Amino acid sequence: MTRTVLRNLAGGPDTRPYPAVPARTGPFTRGHVTIDPATCRSCGLCSKRCPCEAIRLDKEEKVWEIDRMRCIACGDCVEGCPFGSLTMEPEYFSPVVEHVVESYTITYVKPEKPAKKPAEESTGAKEEGAGEST
Ligand code: SF4
Ligand code: SF4
Repeated sequence: MTRTVLRNLAGGPDTRPYPAVPARTGPFTRGHVTIDPATCRSCGLCSKRCPCEAIRLDKEEKVWEIDRMRCIACGDCVEGCPFGSLTMEPEYFSPVVEHVVESYTITYVKPEKPAKKPAEESTGAKEEGAGEST
């Protein structure tokens, strides 16, 4: 017992006084989730998969929100996003946050399909082409 107490006194605590001292992170650390609003297609899979109901999606208003106090950084939303819009960053989110709920406006714009040629135009062109060849 005495030996353990002396060792602890000499060695100091095993924990770090985060955030005064930066946390140790590595490439696989699950720090915090980020979104790329330009690629999010408002499918809603992330909010359905989240076990903590930390993600809210408003498809009409095009708003994606994450509650940092609810998120446990499990990474399920990142794995489930079919468009790769979510990323797990290794840095921990600051425990001193101004806004617990972060809102992002989704800016993804669905590309327009190329306009089809009117049926008459295409038929006329075929007829013209047929006349030239004879
Ligand atoms: S990392 Fe987990 S807890 Fe956090 S928002 Fe994604 S699914 Fe929810
Ligand atoms: S972040 Fe991904 S899973 Fe979530 S709504 Fe956008 S596209 Fe869908």
